[in-house]
Amino acid sequence: MIDFGLPLVNENKQQFDSRGMENQSIGELIKQGVLPDIKGLYTNEAPLFDAVLLSHPHPDHYGLLSFINPIIPIYLSKGCKELVGISHYFNQTNCDLKNVKTIKSWQPFEHGNFKITPYPVDHSGFDALAFLIEGEGKKIFYSGDFRGHGRKGTLFKNIIKNPPKNIDYLILEGTLIGRDKGKFETEYDIENELAKLFKNGKEQFFVACSSQNIDRIVSIYKACIRSNRIFVIDPYTACVLDKLKKISPNIPQYNWGKNIKIFFLSNSYTSKMGKDRSLYKYKSAKISYQEILEKRDTLVIKDSYWMRMRFTENLTDTILIYSLWEGYLPEVKPFWAKQNVPIVEIHASGHAYIEELQEFVKAMNPRYIIPFHTFYPGRYCEYLVNNIMIVRDKETVEL
Ligand SMILES: [Zn+2]
Ligand SMILES: [Zn+2]
Repeated sequence: MIDFGLPLVNENKQQFDSRGMENQSIGELIKQGVLPDIKGLYTNEAPLFDAVLLSHPHPDHYGLLSFINPIIPIYLSKGCKELVGISHYFNQTNCDLKNVKTIKSWQPFEHGNFKITPYPVDHSGFDALAFLIEGEGKKIFYSGDFRGHGRKGTLFKNIIKNPPKNIDYLILEGTLIGRDKGKFETEYDIENELAKLFKNGKEQFFVACSSQNIDRIVSIYKACIRSNRIFVIDPYTACVLDKLKKISPNIPQYNWGKNIKIFFLSNSYTSKMGKDRSLYKYKSAKISYQEILEKRDTLVIKDSYWMRMRFTENLTDTILIYSLWEGYLPEVKPFWAKQNVPIVEIHASGHAYIEELQEFVKAMNPRYIIPFHTFYPGRYCEYLVNNIMIVRDKETVEL
């Protein structure tokens, strides 16, 4: 099994709401079509699967793994393990993955009849992997989610320069097929634009982004250094960065000095951290409510529902930088409109642009491309010349 995530949308193409799945049996969820009807996968029967390969810690790739039989081992990267663990600790998901085996980039391993080589890829999800899977004389390459324009763009260039050879099937993501590219091309464009705004602006900035999008957190932090502003994060974000320190020493940390501070909010996350006392670790980086009021024009505050609510009285001369997929914007727009806070959208996709997909496919030159992670599998042929093998949802094919 390669990845087993939550659907992004329901049958009506509306955002999928996983809360509807709570307290329902596997049988009921299969009947409703939420879980696919696959033999030998779930907790209620003997396993027919050797293992799961998990590409990266985004819920659309791992959100259904809590239903599988825990006897089946899950292979994942160290960073993926950390972030799946953090999301479970903070009750964002109910995936408490126990039977996991961490794997290293470029280090092939064998499981059953398969030889698997993990390739690290550039993506908005941390420590993301693609997989080369070899068995019975065939080679399959699973791209996972990837791009070439993030802070790990070299990984993309490396695969282009040195692609795996003789691939029979390339299972290729196509998130941006049929979607616009947006105004900002690379993660470095984002950093530059933020630095410019922070330097020239006299306002207080809020930035809406994901605490687990490490590339973006790095861009914001670097822009703060360049403009001599203080990046004010919440304890949850501090905890995410702290947990990833052992994987990469370049990830900004709460104790890195004057350009990063923590504002201690009171919410379910901090009460959880308070109970096991992990919260107190971060108190040396504390910034108080009063200090925030005084230093407002030298701050960049990481937005969250609780941060917004805490500072509702202090939102004059404020700009919101919206640094997430635009699809989520309508949810928060009314709040900021009511406060007369202008919204500036600064975002670049975590997924490959069409040109990047073309370059990738040209280098790999597979016999067949199997589209996945796309709303428009039928449009791959507009951009790619290789044979496209369209597999519909829940259809079975033998490779
Ligand atoms: Zn995805
Ligand atoms: Zn992803």
